Amino acid sequence: MPLSLASASPARAFPDAKRSLAGLTRAELADALRSIDTPEREIRMRVAQLWHWIYFRGARDFADMSNISKALRAVLAERFTLALPEIVAEQVSTDGTRKWLLRLDPIDAQDKGAEIECVYIPESDRGTLCVSSQVGCTLNCSFCHTGTQRLVRNLTSREIVSQLLVARFRLGDFPGLARPTDGLVPSGEDVRAVSNIVFMGMGEPLYNLEHVENAIEVMSDGDGLSLSKRRITVSTSGVVPQIERLGAECGPMLAISLHAVRDELRDELVPLNKKYPIRQLLEACRDYPGVSNARRITFEYVMLKGVNDSPAEARELVRLLKGIPAKINLIPFNPWPGAPYECSDWETIERFSDIVFDAGYASPVRTPRGRDILAACGQLKSETEKLRARARLAVE
Ligand code: SAH
Ligand code: SF4
Repeated sequence: MPLSLASASPARAFPDAKRSLAGLTRAELADALRSIDTPEREIRMRVAQLWHWIYFRGARDFADMSNISKALRAVLAERFTLALPEIVAEQVSTDGTRKWLLRLDPIDAQDKGAEIECVYIPESDRGTLCVSSQVGCTLNCSFCHTGTQRLVRNLTSREIVSQLLVARFRLGDFPGLARPTDGLVPSGEDVRAVSNIVFMGMGEPLYNLEHVENAIEVMSDGDGLSLSKRRITVSTSGVVPQIERLGAECGPMLAISLHAVRDELRDELVPLNKKYPIRQLLEACRDYPGVSNARRITFEYVMLKGVNDSPAEARELVRLLKGIPAKINLIPFNPWPGAPYECSDWETIERFSDIVFDAGYASPVRTPRGRDILAACGQLKSETEKLRARARLAVE
């Protein structure tokens, strides 16, 4: 699969760089308008206008904002941009899955612009965007490649929202844009290219709760991007105290990375379990505000050969989840170089899945998507780094 590397453009100068308004919350847009001396009585109306242009129409240029006066458009263009993170690399799988490596703006004079991943998974009736909430992750789950990356910082809500904006532009998912023809992108009058969001990219979203919640509010705002919160899923490794807050303050769908049914094993796979063991975690799920049979919690379970994949563990999983409105997602392990695990055999996954299915959970195995480009979570970043190193060697 060809992987194109865009030529490295120099990071924008800091701190003179203009701020981008694309991805901001209403409150942040109001502050930006105040900073250019917009009269207080106009702020609400101006925010509504910018909101409509940025999030509903997908404007790329202040000049297009025809209901805003020419004078104000000129000031906006002088002080701000509508820039989005640059796509440093894009891979398109034969099944239409797309993986993007995005370069963020530098946050200070030392920062060269961090890179994050974002994956788009099309299906016939939906398109799911998997977004990152942090650069890297502090949690070191033993089977996850992201946890091995050194650089870690929280993304701002603007950086989270901008992943959706980049995807929608790239997929021609704003008025007047055409869908790409090189991959399977769902089409049809009322099917959006991006209809669902999952926070399953890099990072632990509940360690960056405020920005994740603000981003969800922007993504779900009915006057703009308009994605229902029922189509936005936050996945957590189990930050128990933040689960209740997420439900009460914001209310998206919840996914729990369970991966083991005994504390001893989960302590090893998901070290956060030592702080918040399985019993506490499941209690928080039972109490998740808004949970019901119509709003089930997804339990993710990565299939690791000979580690957590026995029939007894499948039966225990079903027993543990009794009474919680739940869906179960069995994820074939994505290997990465040096990973201490292998993916369970297909027969073992089937046997596990049959037990879960017989207990009343529908179609629990997540079909691996984009296998040809997505050898593992966190892989595009390292593959791109390798390619870049090779490119450097070639010119030296
Ligand atoms: N930090 C959050 C969200 C990001 S990880 C969390 O842990 O839930 C998203 C999902 O990918 C999690 O269920 C995680 O356990 C899973 N995952 C990580 N590495 C994986 C791998 N190599 N193979 C399969 N699933 C993996
Ligand atoms: Fe972090 Fe999630 Fe990976 Fe664990 S699985 S290291 S919490 S990104």
